[in-house]
Amino acid sequence: MENSGSRTRHLLRARPYPAKLSIVVPMYNEEEVAGAFRAAVTAFFSEVACPCEVVLVNDGSTDSTISQLVEWSAADPRVKVLHLSRNFGHQIAATAGLDHATGDAVVLIDADLQDPLPVIHQMIMRYCEGYDVIYGRRESRAGETAHKRFTAWVFYRVMRTLVYRDLPIDTGDFRLISRECLDALNTMRETHRFLRGMIAWVGWPQIDVPYHRHARAAGTTKYSLLKMLSFAWTAATSFSAVPLRASIFAGVLVGLLGIEEALRAMAAWLFGWYTVPGWSSLMVVTSLIGSMTLISIGIVGEYLAHVYEEAKDRPLYMVARVYESAEESTEARPPHNEIIRTDG
Ligand code: UDP
Ligand code: MG
Repeated sequence: MENSGSRTRHLLRARPYPAKLSIVVPMYNEEEVAGAFRAAVTAFFSEVACPCEVVLVNDGSTDSTISQLVEWSAADPRVKVLHLSRNFGHQIAATAGLDHATGDAVVLIDADLQDPLPVIHQMIMRYCEGYDVIYGRRESRAGETAHKRFTAWVFYRVMRTLVYRDLPIDTGDFRLISRECLDALNTMRETHRFLRGMIAWVGWPQIDVPYHRHARAAGTTKYSLLKMLSFAWTAATSFSAVPLRASIFAGVLVGLLGIEEALRAMAAWLFGWYTVPGWSSLMVVTSLIGSMTLISIGIVGEYLAHVYEEAKDRPLYMVARVYESAEESTEARPPHNEIIRTDG
């Protein structure tokens, strides 16, 4: 895969082991898995040869997740908890965590232990070789329904062919990002975020690490079918104008159909074919044109809505509170667009 095909050829520069490793974890109603995750991270940190931190983003959980996280941060100075003011969704919560990570290698991972922490060791090796983005590629996905696997399979292929050519296949958000690349990513403040696509867009030397994905350690998926569909739609419309162009294409198609109908009517008149007053063909063409017009207007409206959202230029998220032990409270990096009250 290295520098293959149309990928930009980079000269890799070996770098030393990271001076600090950050782990960023968005969490939404993860009370069932929070304890196991804490144990896994603590064990993992003891194997890492540099100082570590973990940035936990509580994405407006409605269960006891936040109390468990605050308890953890009180016990461990390497833990920082961002408590968002409400549920902003996975991609925004991840963005909040990435904004607040201070390491020079930053790992984005889910809280459910589906992505095994030890894979990060392999990612760090690649990081030392000079790669800036090392993403986990799922060779297998345990404990997921055939239906989920199928939708994921379709999702990646459609996104790749229609939307973004360089989007790595079978890859989630589990990845390690270098400080240089993360700083570049952090300059992109668009409201409709599809992080995987944005990271592919940023460029830099990127490589995959294959791994076997586990089943969820506990709890249930926070991505319902509806959320998945809306995520796919965000991905498609925030990354390409293909849907807009598709409506032009469909318009042309319907237009051709109309011409064909006209020719047929003329031929019928010339050759004296049997002609019913032509009510059905008229209806077909009319309703086709009507539906195409409405769909096209709808798609234009969708893009207009995106422009409207961006024009408002709102902050992406609100941090209601930050919890961390006093010993470690060095807020070195300036946060983007947000309100912080650290009176927690
Ligand atoms: N998540 C979040 N906000 C949301 C939905 C999910 O922060 O609105 C988190 C969730 O807690 C988990 C990660 O995003 O850590 C991935 O979610 P999940 O495991 O449910 O997705 P799946 O692996 O089933 O695609
Ligand atoms: Mg999961």
